[in-house]
Amino acid sequence: MNTKSCPRCEHQAVLRPRNFSDQAVASLVSWGDMDKKVVGKPICDDCHEELRDALIEHQRVAAEQEIDRTRSKNRRAS
Ligand SMILES: [Zn+2]
Repeated sequence: MNTKSCPRCEHQAVLRPRNFSDQAVASLVSWGDMDKKVVGKPICDDCHEELRDALIEHQRVAAEQEIDRTRSKNRRAS
C-alpha cells in the first residue's frame, strides 16, 4: 500500500483528497480542527472521520443555539 505521512496527524497512512465544501473547510479552520497548511491536501481516513464528526457536532450545537435563541426571544415577547 502506498502510505505517506498525513499532513494533519503525521501518521503513516493512505492519504486521499477530501471533498469538503469551501464553507466546511473555512469553518474547520476557524474552529481549529484543521490547520491552514492542511487545506486542499489529501489526508488519512482517521482525520477525515474526525473532521466529518467535528462538522456534524458543530452543526448540532449551532442548531441547538438557534433553538435557544428562538425560545428566549419568545419568552421575552410574552
Ligand atoms: Zn491523519
